[in-house]
Amino acid sequence: MQGRDVSLSATGTEALVGDLRDAVGADAVVTDPVRLEPYSADTYWKALAARAAGTPLGRAEIAVLARSEDDVAATLRLANRHLVPVVPWGGGSGSQGGAVAAGGGVVLDLTGLDKVVEVDERSLTVTAEAGVNGRRLERELNERGLMLPHYPASVDLATVGGYVAARGSGVLSTRYGKIEDLVLSLRVAVPTGELIDTVRVPRHAVGPDLTQLFVGSEGTLGVITRATLQLVPLPAARRFEAVSFPSLEEGIAAIRAALARGYRPSVVRMYDEVATRLSLGPVVGEDLDGVCTLLCFEGDAGVADAEADGVIALAVAHGASVLPRRLGEIWWDRRYDFYRPPHHPELPAIWGTIEAVATYSRIHDVYRAVRAAIDGPYAAEGLTLRVHLSHWYPWGTMIYGRFVVPDGGPDATALHDRIWADGVHAILAAGGVMNDHHGVGLKLAPYMRDQYGPALDTLRRIKESLDPNRIMNPGKLDL
Ligand SMILES: Cc1cc2nc3c(=O)[nH]c(=O)nc-3n(C[C@H](O)[C@H](O)[C@H](O)COP(=O)(O)OP(=O)(O)OC[C@H]3O[C@@H](n4cnc5c(N)ncnc54)[C@H](O)[C@@H]3O)c2cc1C
Repeated sequence: MQGRDVSLSATGTEALVGDLRDAVGADAVVTDPVRLEPYSADTYWKALAARAAGTPLGRAEIAVLARSEDDVAATLRLANRHLVPVVPWGGGSGSQGGAVAAGGGVVLDLTGLDKVVEVDERSLTVTAEAGVNGRRLERELNERGLMLPHYPASVDLATVGGYVAARGSGVLSTRYGKIEDLVLSLRVAVPTGELIDTVRVPRHAVGPDLTQLFVGSEGTLGVITRATLQLVPLPAARRFEAVSFPSLEEGIAAIRAALARGYRPSVVRMYDEVATRLSLGPVVGEDLDGVCTLLCFEGDAGVADAEADGVIALAVAHGASVLPRRLGEIWWDRRYDFYRPPHHPELPAIWGTIEAVATYSRIHDVYRAVRAAIDGPYAAEGLTLRVHLSHWYPWGTMIYGRFVVPDGGPDATALHDRIWADGVHAILAAGGVMNDHHGVGLKLAPYMRDQYGPALDTLRRIKESLDPNRIMNPGKLDL
């Protein structure tokens, strides 16, 4: 299904800029290339490398600094009339190129939608506008003794809308769920420019779930302008533990057994042997080996202690040795260090996070397939692959594989693409799903047909009916 080609003509730009200025105010419409530059890359390696080389993957001609939901709706209405692409921009922390204006057009900066609309302490919900920064929201909730239990490592950078649009996950997901489990309802500006509210609560029988249609849609179906999310009280106690398993097989078997018995650790971070030595050890400042696994239990002290004791007993039954608790505590305090120099690479290195999710029946095959596909074959390029498993479900788990090539050389982009193609094909062939929580964006769009098969056409028909002029975030999700 080929869509209409939407591109910005010189007259289209001029006319749209004029109409936008009338609708949202002249100061909210930016056309100065210097002020547009920051929107040319999110944190996708290819976007950063292309920008550094002076050839960005995408350049918006216009930025709209939306200050209200009506500004968002008006922008979509006008862009639709002028057939100009619109790319929502939250915190720009996405790792998949999702917020890059690959086809030019309008970048719709949502950070001005920054109101925490309502905290309902009785129902434990918050309604926040899409541009509210994750850290700021957390502070405001903590002051009331509450928290949004969605703590991505990008909490300082990302927005509420970006959390939902990219279908993200936080460090406490094993207990509290991913963002899709925490969303009650959304307000969305649909591409034709109307604001709609989805059904107020997520458990109902009044038809299919419109809320979840927009979760993970990455700005291709509309713009989320506000979200109502589940909160929890700040836990009275948080108990950390650390264990080392003799193998990944034993480690996975132990956690699978724990979840099946009803234990709900908030953190289960299992580092394979390589990641234990090269990632976890340096960050916590200790020489570690084996399959080191950090655990956290939280809630009322009695609950946390009972769960910790039960899971440790199961781990020991699977051959684990118990490590000092302080490892978990140090990791918690330093958990963002993994994403900063010197632990995080910089150009001219190539890096990426190949993550995948699978049932317990498949996860070992997926792990071995990824290692076989990119570890050995790229040894000559100096590639290292460090894997941890950090989001656990009753039916399966995920692998988070961070690869680094110290210097990509002159053909870095081609090398990057080959590594990704080999990694993703290996995941799919082994029965995994190519991504647990980072979204698709530009990076994984080429593999959507392989992932979905004929079902991709159903998604495309939904897109076609919501966005007949295909203005919303073209090139993303292969829609
Ligand atoms: C250091 C670091 C650590 C990270 N750790 C995690 C992690 O632990 N867990 C995790 O899930 N992710 C993580 N990420 C990835 C990223 O932060 C998340 O995907 C985050 O949810 C993106 O939010 P954002 O506001 O920055 O969105 P952006 O990057 O601005 O946008 C992401 C996508 O959503 C679309 N979009 C944004 N806002 C809206 C909206 N209101 N309506 C419709 N579409 C919209 C954009 O067009 C784009 O396609 C990490 C990134 C970095 C740089």
